[in-house]
Amino acid sequence: MFFFKTFLFLIVVFYHEAETFKLDLSKIISTSDESSGKALNNWNILKSGNAEEQGNYFEGDIILNLDQRNGIRLPTQKWDKGIIPYKIEGGFSSKQKNVISDAIDQIQKKTCLKFRPRGGEEDYILITNENTGCWSSVGKIGNAQKVNLQDECLLKFGTVIHELLHAIGFYHEQSRSDRDIFVKILTENILSDRRDNFMKLNEGEDETFGVSYDYESVMHYSPLAFTSNGKPTIKSLKGEKSNMGQREKLSEKDIKKINKMYC
Ligand SMILES: [Zn+2]
Repeated sequence: MFFFKTFLFLIVVFYHEAETFKLDLSKIISTSDESSGKALNNWNILKSGNAEEQGNYFEGDIILNLDQRNGIRLPTQKWDKGIIPYKIEGGFSSKQKNVISDAIDQIQKKTCLKFRPRGGEEDYILITNENTGCWSSVGKIGNAQKVNLQDECLLKFGTVIHELLHAIGFYHEQSRSDRDIFVKILTENILSDRRDNFMKLNEGEDETFGVSYDYESVMHYSPLAFTSNGKPTIKSLKGEKSNMGQREKLSEKDIKKINKMYC
C-alpha cells in the first residue's frame, strides 16, 4: 500500500509539472473584461512589462475563439487581398487618433497590407477604447471585430501595431513551437495563475513562414511579462537581447512574415 501511495504521489507530481503550460479552457475570457482595464489603470511600466501584458485574456491580450487556434492558416481567416477595412469608434483624443494612424501608416508603408476606412464591408476592424485593456482576436473572424485600445495602450506606438498584428493573423512570438531553443521561461518568477500564458504551440500548429526566431518582434513578450516579483520571466539563451519586448516598431522579421502571409 505504501508503495502504491508513493507511486500515486509521484504520478500526481509529474503530471502537475507537465501541466504547467497546458491550457485551462474554463479560464479563457472570450469577451471584454473590466478587471483587465482596472489592472491596466494600476500598471507600472517599469515593474511589469508592456501594457498589453496586463490583461486577464488568453496570453494577456488575445480574445480566443476556441476552435480557431489551429486554423489561422485557413484562407478565410486572412483578410482578402490584404485589404483591411477599419472604423475608429469611441472617445479617442486627436493625439490618440494620430498614434493609431501612425501605427497603420507604418504597417502600410513596410508591407503590402492596405487599411481602408470602412465603406459597406461586412468584415472589418472596429477600434474602440473601452476601459477593458488592450486586446484583439487573431486573424479575421468575420463581421465587426474589435481591437480595443484603452488609454494606456496608446502610450507606445508599437502596442497599437502589436494589437493590429493580432487582428492581421499573428500570435505571440515566444509561443512558437521552437522557442525553447531560443528562450528560457523562468516559471518561478511568473504569477502562479498566469503560467498558462507561456504555453507554446506544438510543432505543425504554428506558421513561421520560414523566418527564424525573432527576439525583436513587436509580438514578443517583454522580459517582465506576468512577473510576480519584478524579476524576468523570460530570458534569451543566445546572449543578452536588449530589444526583447520592444514596442517601437515592426522588426525586419515581422515585415518579412507579414509579406510572406499576404503578398
Ligand atoms: Zn498580444
